[in-house]
Amino acid sequence: MLQTWHIGVDDTDSNFGMCTTFLATILIDFMLALPLELLDFPKLIRLNPNIPYKTRGNGAIAISFMASEDLKDKFWNGAIDRVKQYADVDDPQTDPGLVLLQGEVPSDFIELYKQALYQVIPLESVKNMLKKHPTDTFFIKKGRGLIGATAAIGATLLHDYTYELIIYRDLKEKKPERLIDPISVINADKNTPLSFSNYDYENKQVMITPHGPDPVFCGIRGETSNAVIQMWKMIQIFEPIQTSMLFRTNQHTQVHFPKQFSGDEISPHHSVILRGSVVKNPYNLPGGHVIFTIKSGNISIDCAAYEPTKQFRKIIRELMEGDEVLVFGGVRPASVETPTTVNIEEIQIIKLVTIREKITPKCPNCGASLTSAGKNKGLKCKKCSYKSTKRNFNYKSRSRKIRPGMRYVIPVCAQRHLTKPISRNEPLQFHLTSEIDFQKAFYDFLKRRTELNDHFVKKKEISI
Ligand SMILES: [Zn+2]
Repeated sequence: MLQTWHIGVDDTDSNFGMCTTFLATILIDFMLALPLELLDFPKLIRLNPNIPYKTRGNGAIAISFMASEDLKDKFWNGAIDRVKQYADVDDPQTDPGLVLLQGEVPSDFIELYKQALYQVIPLESVKNMLKKHPTDTFFIKKGRGLIGATAAIGATLLHDYTYELIIYRDLKEKKPERLIDPISVINADKNTPLSFSNYDYENKQVMITPHGPDPVFCGIRGETSNAVIQMWKMIQIFEPIQTSMLFRTNQHTQVHFPKQFSGDEISPHHSVILRGSVVKNPYNLPGGHVIFTIKSGNISIDCAAYEPTKQFRKIIRELMEGDEVLVFGGVRPASVETPTTVNIEEIQIIKLVTIREKITPKCPNCGASLTSAGKNKGLKCKKCSYKSTKRNFNYKSRSRKIRPGMRYVIPVCAQRHLTKPISRNEPLQFHLTSEIDFQKAFYDFLKRRTELNDHFVKKKEISI
């Protein structure tokens, strides 16, 4: 009898190579050779970016499919073999986990996903939960990857979602640079409005290529599967690629900030929206970091915009004591040198204080600035001894460069996988319909995949 199944996999990558999405790509190729039917694009699910032990992106994968029960041993053992073969278990930080669920996704899984987006989830609670459902598990070492694998299955992506087309180079290739033509990236970006965060125009950086030793050549993000495919076809590259996979993902949807907290409710490594008022003006630290303090609930908390957030620090420096703000960020625990600090990803202004500024009148005789002649003695000119009958200075309110109601977000080059870029502010109607046939769209992609993998490799021109 045909059944619905879900495979979740996480924590197979390391900082020295490998990438969980590549392992998923190999696993999908294996599955496509079996008599089973995938139900959707594979899902690339990012979880709380502030987890201390995560690798680069804290990304997990879920694959949903229909298959006969007789086939179970085959696909499950095949999945285990691929994790054993490809997971980078020599890295002490890598702790792979693989979960197989039979049937519909239970509400426990969906709830776990929501929690794992902003909290730190204990492994034991996940292991206990898995025992209550028709699941099989496989893990190496402690199996911390079971947390992400289970949460990824729980990510149904019914509301907002995006796509990422990931292009891979040869697994043996470890060099940090990817040979790509930046001008072609800019041109393709300008011609593909439904693809985003391809290039940071403020900081002049190509954003689709990573710099690590992993097999990812580039990743193209967008609102539709067609947009990311179109974008890729316009890009010029100077080295061969090996394969590709198109993922549906929660990236750039801001789901890791589900609610507002007050200062007394936050815990280390959580992703939080903190409401508070500025009690200490922004100041600079060595290295270009900017810090200010807010009072939220009953406590004062430091908030930080670090040097890599570039121009964003200019916005932060505009804050003044008394301003009411919403700070979106990760809670860094206190250390010997620093108190608990929120690393800011975004800030919104609720209310700005009015700052009164003294208006200095000019002397009608000589044009010099008038000064006070002493308390209640009016104003006088020091230069020509003119005395004004006016007793006090007038004040005006200083205009502020920041405005309530705006999202101020760190620049593209500093954004994390879940950060919602400003370019996604407009709600996209086609993401709200459930009528998109993801299965059909995924098989359409597979039909075009050979063509995408045979991407033309341009010879580097030698300039004389
Ligand atoms: Zn004067």
